[in-house]
Amino acid sequence: MSQINGLNEAMIRDVVLEVLGKLPSTSVQTARVPSSKPIKATATQGRYGVFQDPDQAAKAALVAFEQLKTKGWAGRAKVCEIVKTLCWDKAQEWGKIEFDETKIGRLDHKIEKLQGIKGVLGVESLIPLGMSGDNGITMEENAPWGVILAITPVTHSVPTIAGNIINMVAAGNSMVINPHPGGAACAAIAVREFNKAIHAEIGIENLICTIEKPTLESFKALTEAPEIALLCITGGPGVVAAAMKTGKRAICAGPGNPPVVVDDCPVLDFDRVARDIILGGGYDNNLLCIGEKQVFAVGAAFDKLMKSMQRAGSKLVNSGQLDRIRKEVFTFREDDGGCSQAIVNPEFIGADASKLAAVAGVNADSRTELLIAETAADDLFVVKEQMTTFLPIIRCRDFDEAVRMAYESEHGFKHSAMVHTMNVANMTKMAREMDTTIFVKNGPCVAGLGLGGEGYISFSVATATGEGITTPKTFTRFRRCALVDQLNIV
Ligand code: NAD
Repeated sequence: MSQINGLNEAMIRDVVLEVLGKLPSTSVQTARVPSSKPIKATATQGRYGVFQDPDQAAKAALVAFEQLKTKGWAGRAKVCEIVKTLCWDKAQEWGKIEFDETKIGRLDHKIEKLQGIKGVLGVESLIPLGMSGDNGITMEENAPWGVILAITPVTHSVPTIAGNIINMVAAGNSMVINPHPGGAACAAIAVREFNKAIHAEIGIENLICTIEKPTLESFKALTEAPEIALLCITGGPGVVAAAMKTGKRAICAGPGNPPVVVDDCPVLDFDRVARDIILGGGYDNNLLCIGEKQVFAVGAAFDKLMKSMQRAGSKLVNSGQLDRIRKEVFTFREDDGGCSQAIVNPEFIGADASKLAAVAGVNADSRTELLIAETAADDLFVVKEQMTTFLPIIRCRDFDEAVRMAYESEHGFKHSAMVHTMNVANMTKMAREMDTTIFVKNGPCVAGLGLGGEGYISFSVATATGEGITTPKTFTRFRRCALVDQLNIV
C-alpha cells in the first residue's frame, strides 16, 4: 500500500470523504465529485450521528457508506460486535432511560430486550452462492443498497435501532433513523454511543445517523432525499401506508393483532398454556407486535383455561368492570369518510395492569400482568390492536369456529398467531388458514423469535411486504458475477 507523509491510501480516502460530507450538494453524484459550490462551515464532525437537519444526516450517512466500503468484512463485523456489546453492557442504563422517556411497558423487559440483541444475525449469515462448471465460475453475492432510512416504533426504540444496525451494517449499508418522537431522546443517546465506539475502532463517525427531534416533515424530507436508497419501516398502519406512497422500495414491518387458539385437548397442560399466554401477552405490558392479543378457547378448554389463567396470576374482571375499562380505554373519532373509529387511549397503552384494575375498581398488585374476561368475538378489545394489559377470551363451539374467528381478528396482517393443541392435524389446519409470518405451536409468542424456541431474533418482522423476520440478507441487493473461461480444474 502506498504511503504519503505517513498516511496510507485508506486514511487519505477517509479524510477526503469526510471533507466531501461537508459539501452542501444533495445528490450521490455530487457527493463523489467535488462541487464548485462553497463548502459549508457546518461540519458533521463531533456529532456522532445526531442531527436535526435530515439533509445533513442523509449526506453524512452517504459519506459513511463510502467509508464502510473501505473497511471490508472485518469492519462490518466489528460494528455488529460493538452494538451487541454496548446493548449488553448498557442494558440497565439504557433500559431505564427508554422507560423514563416513553413511560410505557416494564423496566425489566426493556432491559431484557436490549440483552436479547446478542441474538440478532450479523455478517456470519451472509453466505454467497458459488457455481463452477465447464463454462467458468459464477458467484452470487449480497451487495449493499447504500443508505437505508429506518423508521422505528416507540414500543421498542433502542432495541429496534440496535437490531436494524446489526442487520443493515452487516450487509454493508449505513443508516439514517427517523425515530418515533416519543423515543427519540433515548435513540440519540444510544446512536451517539454506538458511533463513538465505531469511530474509535474503525474511524467512521456517522455510520448511524438519527434525527434528534423527528417530525413528519423530517420523514418526508428523508424519503425524498436522493441519498436514501431503501426504507425499512417498523410501525403501525399509518406509517406503512405513508412509506408505500413514497415511490421508494420499502421493507415494511407493519402492525399485528395476534390471536391464540386453545384447543379442547384433554392431554394439554392448561397451567403451562396459561403461563405461555401470560409470558407473551404480558411481556412489556403487551407492547410486542407478536404478543398474544386475544384468545379463542374451544369447548371445555374455556373453563379450564380461565381457571389456569387465574392460578397463573391473571385477574378476572366481570362484565360491569369490563364496561368501565372499555369506556376509559376507547375513544371515538370520525374518519375522513365520516365513520366513527375507535382509538385506543394512549394513557393505557403499555400501562401496568394495576392501572386498568383501578379503573375497573378491582385490586391488583404490581405482580399482576394481565386482566382477563370473557368477551364476544366482535368486542373492540378483540378487533383493535390494543396494546393494553386486558386480554379478551372468547368461547368457541369447535376448532373450526375458533380458527375462523382468529383469522378475522388478525385482519389479514399476516403477522403472528399461536395455537395450543396436541392435535397435529389441527395445528396444520390453523397454520394454513392463518398464513402468518410467525406461527407458534405450544409456546409463547416470543418462541417465534428464538426466545424459548429455536431461531434468531429481530425487532422488525417484515409482514406487509413479506420479507419476514429481518436478517442482513433482507438489506442486500442480488449481484451475480460470471467469470467465463476454462477455469474448472476437474
Ligand atoms: P406508530 O405507527 O405510531 O409509529 C411508528 C413510527 O412511524 C414512528 O417512528 C412514528 O413517528 C412514525 N409514523 C407514524 N405515522 C406516520 C406517518 N403517517 N408518516 C410518517 N411517519 C409516521 O407505531 P408505534 O406506536 O410506535 O408502534 C406500535 C405499532 O408498530 C404497532 O402497530 C405494532 O404492531 C407495530 N410494530 C410492528 C413490528 C413488526 O416487526 N412488524 C415491530 C414493532 C411494532
